[in-house]
Order: sequence, then structure tokens, then C-alpha cells
Amino acid sequence: ATPTSVMVGTGRAASLGVLFKSGAALEALQRADVIALDKTGTLTLGRPELTDLILTGQYDAAALTLIAAAERGSEHPVAQAILTAARAEGLTLPGATAFQALPGEGIEATVNGQRVWVGSDRLMTRLGLNVAPLTAQTDALADLGRTPLYAAVDGHIIAALAVADPIKPGSLEAVQAIQSSGRRVVMITGDHARTAQAVARQLGITDVRAEVHPAQKSAAVKELQAAGQHVAFVGDGINDAPALAQADVGVAIGTGTDVAAETAGVILMSGDLRGVPNAVALSRATLTNIR
Ligand code: ADP
Ligand code: MG
Repeated sequence: ATPTSVMVGTGRAASLGVLFKSGAALEALQRADVIALDKTGTLTLGRPELTDLILTGQYDAAALTLIAAAERGSEHPVAQAILTAARAEGLTLPGATAFQALPGEGIEATVNGQRVWVGSDRLMTRLGLNVAPLTAQTDALADLGRTPLYAAVDGHIIAALAVADPIKPGSLEAVQAIQSSGRRVVMITGDHARTAQAVARQLGITDVRAEVHPAQKSAAVKELQAAGQHVAFVGDGINDAPALAQADVGVAIGTGTDVAAETAGVILMSGDLRGVPNAVALSRATLTNIR
């Protein structure tokens, strides 16, 4: 592509909120045969709400207070959901100390002299705790597309929780448009496998890589490339800058983060996923014009 042609193409794109950072990015998007999508914040709003709290009998009245206090140090959307719910209940939260984020798993902190853990079933299993008595209930919640979590205090599971992160308007249409163009859609997420499958089902996505640790997202992209495919990775930048960089072209969606904007070759100004098939169509039209 000549620089002039790319400028023409990107000028038209810019009016649609699509920024191609280079002619190479435009070409790579046109050539992509797999569009890999992050789930949280990309296919979904990225603003989960606490929908369920199942208490196991210990600390009943105080459970949400302990859990929310422990989450205070976390910037994860899950923590925001729990803190918003605690605030809505009018709870007064004690301070927490020795907070530690456990990437891809959850958090731990000390509240009122007790060590509190909040996170996935895998975290609980790693701690040697048995979630089995709760899985009939949590599996049913995950099948609704909600993310199941557990809280433990001093070696006992005190609660199961679920948060729901609604699918963005436009995501279904966008996935269908990408698939109609003959490209494969793959979801890559750190979320629970059952939850990811339920969300994927609602979007007509059959290829799902779930429970992918933040550090492993780029490896998942590499694996797709090893099969000889040209991969575009679409993400909002939370946890996924390395995957954006590893892909043949990275597409940053929404307000995103500075890291995402730096790493990506294509930037979608709006959070609407329909920007992806629009950008693909633009790349095609532009390169067809040039050739
Ligand atoms: P995602 O791809 O959904 O952004 P993450 O790698 O950020 O995935 O998180 C994976 C999982 O780790 C979450 O689904 C949740 O179970 C758990 N987790 C992460 N952060 C927290 C937290 N602050 N509190 C509880 N659980 C958390
Ligand atoms: Mg995300």
C-alpha cells in the first residue's frame, strides 16, 4: 500500500471511530482468518454486579462485611461489584491489612485479625478447601453466564458468590458479521469454563479457551498462530497487552488503557464490538481500492 492510499483509507475509518496505526496493521487485519476476543470488557460490559450470595452458616451476618473489606485493595471489576453491593447494604467496612492480589485467582487480606480469601474454585482447591458441597448451586449460576466465586476464612468456606457481567449490545451482531465474512471467532478468557461456555453459547461462539491465566493469554494466541492462522486479537487492555502484542494485529476496544493503545495496531474509539467487523470491511475495501 502506498502511504497516500493508506491515509485515504484511514481518513474514512477515522470518521467511523477506527484508527489504523499503520498500513501494516490495515493489511494484517484484512488478512486475519481468526478473530480472537477477550470476554470481560470486550464482549461484555466489564462492569459486573453481585447477583448471588450463598452463606454456609459461619459468619452469616458478617460474611459480606469480611469479604468486601478484604476486596478493598483490589482494582478488579469483581471487587468493584462486591464493594458496590456492600455499600448498597449500608455496611461499614473495617480496614484490611496484608492485602495480596492473586492474579487470575482472587485476593487475600487480613480483616479483624482473620485471613480472608476470595476467588475462584481453583484458588479454593489450591488452598485445600472442598467446594463440592456448593457446586450444585454454583454450576447452575455459571450456566446462566454468571461468574461463581468463593470466600474462605481461616480454612473454612464461608460463602459462595456470583457476579453477572452483561453482554454488550451489539456483540451478538458483531460476532455474526465476523462469522459471515468467513472468519473464525475464538473467545479467550480467564473466567470460569462453565461461565465462559454459557456466554459463548449466547453469542454463537463455539471455540472457547477459558480459565486462561493473565500471563498465558499471549500463549493462547501463539497456539492459534502455530496452526498457521493469521490472528487478530481484540481486547480492552486489562490483562491482555501481551496478547495484543503477540497477535498479527492487536485491536484495542473502547476507552481502553494507555498500554492497549500503545500495543495495538488498530484502535476502536467506541466500546461497541460492531467496530470490529466495520474495521475488517474497511481494511478490505481500502486494500481492494489500492490493488
Ligand atoms: P478475566 O479474563 O475475566 O478478566 P482474570 O484473569 O482477571 O479474568 O480473573 C480470572 C478469575 O480470577 C475471575 O473470574 C475470578 O474468579 C478470579 N478473580 C480475579 N480477581 C478477583 C478478585 N479481586 N476477587 C475475587 N476473584 C477474583
Ligand atoms: Mg478484558
